Amino acid sequence: MTFLECTVHCHTNLCDGKNTPAEMAAAAAAKGIKVLGLSGHSHTPHDDSYCMSVENTARYREEIARLNREYEGRLTILCGLEWDQWSDENLSDWDYTIGSAHYVTGPQSGIRHSVDHNLETLQGAFKDFDGDGLAMAEAYFTAVAGVAAKGPTILGHFDLLKKLNGDGRFFDETHPRYRAAALAALEAAAGKVQALEINTGGVARGYREEFYPAPFLLKRWKELGGEIILTADAHSTDGLLYAFEQAAAYAKAAGFEQAVVLNGQGKLEKCTL
Ligand SMILES: [Zn+2]
Ligand SMILES: [Zn+2]
Repeated sequence: MTFLECTVHCHTNLCDGKNTPAEMAAAAAAKGIKVLGLSGHSHTPHDDSYCMSVENTARYREEIARLNREYEGRLTILCGLEWDQWSDENLSDWDYTIGSAHYVTGPQSGIRHSVDHNLETLQGAFKDFDGDGLAMAEAYFTAVAGVAAKGPTILGHFDLLKKLNGDGRFFDETHPRYRAAALAALEAAAGKVQALEINTGGVARGYREEFYPAPFLLKRWKELGGEIILTADAHSTDGLLYAFEQAAAYAKAAGFEQAVVLNGQGKLEKCTL
């Protein structure tokens, strides 16, 4: 398989995506994709805004099984999960998992603040950290390391916290404290996860010009001997392979010659960039 024949970070309307699983499968087949990994947001008791409900999780499984019968021999649809740090789902119950941290816990209030939902939620977190954006970043990367320790197949949008920090108003992404926290989490993830994703979703939706993760992290991941996988965090059919060619060039610039894809059994296979 080439990296353009596999896309595994994809959402449907059973969580916060726009299209049905059937529409995503039809669009994937039309683009010549061989493996479509659906990765619905895992059921998470405290948040019903973007995660799959228990009912939708059951529908999700049924619909993927039905679509695999319909597309047999043309397209495999993997039943994956974007596993949230606070989810009550088991990681072992799925074809593969993407482990993601979307929250920081406020040290004063104990509130779980979403770091990527909107500026208000991130501002709420920032205030909870007394305006110390670097302390907020340290807490975020500690959460990422905690997710990695669970052993998901793929570690999701490693530095998602930067999504709404395009103008640097919350923290300085070149600050030694920021970099040390991010690198410590990355080093803790090495050997725990099978691949790190280069996620084009934040660029697709116009938040940032830089993919997740930042180049200094990608270069360190290469030194650590880690694998990478290109993903789009697609929330609609038109995003399935968003900027994969640019993401491949981004990976090459960090020293990678190969990435991995997931095969029809959800296992890693190498591919050339
Ligand atoms: Zn996510
Ligand atoms: Zn996602």
